[in-house]
Amino acid sequence: MKTITDAINERLARTRNLKQMDAEDMIESVYRKHPKLSKIDADIIEVRSARMICSIEHDNEPLPALKKREEDLRKEREEYLEKHHIRPDFDREQVVCTKCEDTGFVTNSDGRRMVCTACMKDAIKETYDNSGMKDFGTYTLKSFDLNYFKDNGERKKKFTAIRDLIEGRSAKPLMVLNGGVQSGKTYLAIVACKYAALQGQSSYYLKADRLGSLKRDELDELKGYDLIVIDDYAPEVTQDKYNSSALHTLLEARLASGRATIIVSSAPLEVLVSDSEERIAGKLKSAGTL
Ligand SMILES: [Zn+2]
Repeated sequence: MKTITDAINERLARTRNLKQMDAEDMIESVYRKHPKLSKIDADIIEVRSARMICSIEHDNEPLPALKKREEDLRKEREEYLEKHHIRPDFDREQVVCTKCEDTGFVTNSDGRRMVCTACMKDAIKETYDNSGMKDFGTYTLKSFDLNYFKDNGERKKKFTAIRDLIEGRSAKPLMVLNGGVQSGKTYLAIVACKYAALQGQSSYYLKADRLGSLKRDELDELKGYDLIVIDDYAPEVTQDKYNSSALHTLLEARLASGRATIIVSSAPLEVLVSDSEERIAGKLKSAGTL
């Protein structure tokens, strides 16, 4: 499965290639129009290699003259560029995204390293779609700005706890997010998943009853994801032996490595512990609540 890092790296590689090709095209076109400049640049390269050979062979005598010749050529080049209004860095690769300088990441005002939304929009969308969030395009990350929650203390508290979990400040890696029907818990769950992705973490959202239908390799990959959100969990889900077995394997691996998992349910944790299949109940006992 493709994580945000994979999606970003793919785009960065593409950008690098394009930049390289653009730079090559630019050099070719400038040289075609300015053969004199092309000659100066060829001469600079020649003088530099002559200097290098002298250095290697410890032949110091011609060095001052070569150095002087190079300086003259560089000055001539500079003057030529200026006279013909050619950008001094025409032969260098140009930065495509000035916001992240083609690194794919920016540091935001509170010091967090986040995926650059200026150039990685497609990578972000692709990641959301590939991480179980295809149907939740409208659950946007305006919520990213915590002030969005300013008139809703409870929600802000939950989001802060989720952020602590994602950023490794939570004492418990397994958390249960409770709330009644229409309480916006799926919204929060999606926001959590998207927020983790925007920090460059691998995150995945799925409904609890889908666990049993995961392929073996998918389940193995999810064990190593930074954040997994399991929505619509109810003890009845564990009555299906495939769901129950997949959830047990997943939780066991993730608890052992301390990776963040959020289980979303409308039932309180006590009920989940008392009514879930025995092995799952054992794991849930160690969970915290959001
Ligand atoms: Zn960027």
